[in-house]
Amino acid sequence: MTDKPMNWDEYYMTIAMAVRKKANCLGRKVGAVIVRENRIISTGYNGTPEGMTNCSDGGCVRCRDRDTYKASVGYDVCICVHAEQNALIAAARFGNAVEDAVVYSTLRPCFDCTKAMLQARVTSIRYLHNWQHPIGELREQYELLQNSLRGGVHPVELFDPDADWANAKVNPAPDP
Ligand SMILES: [Zn+2]
Ligand SMILES: [Zn+2]
Repeated sequence: MTDKPMNWDEYYMTIAMAVRKKANCLGRKVGAVIVRENRIISTGYNGTPEGMTNCSDGGCVRCRDRDTYKASVGYDVCICVHAEQNALIAAARFGNAVEDAVVYSTLRPCFDCTKAMLQARVTSIRYLHNWQHPIGELREQYELLQNSLRGGVHPVELFDPDADWANAKVNPAPDP
């Protein structure tokens, strides 16, 4: 522990890192927290849908076969739900409005999650680790999409003791 008091960004991102501990995807592990009026209204981590075999137990074909499906591509055939989407979905399920909310995510949100947040009128994103689409020609559109959030997309500078575990792109697939 440091003597310096935590600011709000550090506080919510620390909670997002705790939420991430339950992530069950073979790919990168992500945690997200949705904050509205300085209150946490929803959380999410990435993994397969409720009731399905965990990705870490071989439940997702796309995550299991990284030779065919490279990191950051083929999300349309991935059954893993991203942390940010799980947080948005839980908010919808329990009837919590996310308009004007801030999403804290341990990984900079992908195309799909950014689209969902934009349409849900989330105001801004705070992320811990940077993410970029591996296909260079798509990056301009990604930046355009993220810059459309009224409050912008901002990094939070914070030490992540589990960075190696969380950011390993490919973990060994379990035996079928
Ligand atoms: Zn997965
Ligand atoms: Zn995503």
